Amino acid sequence: MKTLTPQSEQYLDIINEYKKNGKAIAHFNISNLDQARAIADVAQELNQPVIIGASEGEREYMGIDMVRTIVNELNQEYDVAIFLNADHTYTLEKVIEVVEAGYDSVIVDGAKLPYEENVALVKSCVDYVRSYEAKTGKRVLVEAELGYIGQSSSLNTALPEGVSEANLTTPVQAKDFILRTGVDMFAPAVGNVHGMLIDAENPRLHIDRLKEITATVDIPLVLHGASGNTDQDLLDAIDNGIAIIHINTEIRKAFRDGEMNYLEAHPNEVAPYKFGKEGQEEMKKVVRAKMLLYMK
Ligand SMILES: [Zn+2]
Repeated sequence: MKTLTPQSEQYLDIINEYKKNGKAIAHFNISNLDQARAIADVAQELNQPVIIGASEGEREYMGIDMVRTIVNELNQEYDVAIFLNADHTYTLEKVIEVVEAGYDSVIVDGAKLPYEENVALVKSCVDYVRSYEAKTGKRVLVEAELGYIGQSSSLNTALPEGVSEANLTTPVQAKDFILRTGVDMFAPAVGNVHGMLIDAENPRLHIDRLKEITATVDIPLVLHGASGNTDQDLLDAIDNGIAIIHINTEIRKAFRDGEMNYLEAHPNEVAPYKFGKEGQEEMKKVVRAKMLLYMK
């Protein structure tokens, strides 16, 4: 059995290397073991590192330590580096929880707060993480988000309230925010939204705005809410400074559809490993297509 527990020290190096080479690393969320293994299978098949994310809700469902244990186990079994990110975390208390549980990175989400409160929340989390690092020697990456893009990875009939062009991130604020908080990675709002529209295309990305932000800041940028964006928009985003791309809704839908189709055809099937397998297979198609796209 191969032992590889990637350290966060390598994590930032890998992200920067991808950014330098004009590629992006894939970030996929999980709510169960089937999804975790589907992601690891494809990462191994393509020989690419990958980030597994779990939001507050997903962690609550699976158990904070259980998620860490699953990803540790995947790192033992597979030959690629699989990092664990605590996705959208809203308070310092929850940040402390995941850092102490050994997560490799955490996203502090104060995007809905007034600007100064967002800065204060993120700064308090960065200060805590740096003191944790000094004490333990374990590097933990902190990401933060500025500009509102909605909160839920769901199928929606309309854009989330508060998402508008007026709430796109500006380069001036991005620079100020990064300088004052000391974050390692930054998630801008450039037309991306969490979730997918059911009856319409998701909005196009504002690549020009992304270009302006990239020209102003030098840390890796992360694109959230990339479900439903066109391949061309994602490629343009990667060409303009995006180093990590988050997909959740699209893989959730594929997983659900795989299981649903199977159960419709086999209504008496009760073995979770049979319909779970179908969910995995559908989800792997999306994971594979996205990872191949980001590798270019
Ligand atoms: Zn997100």
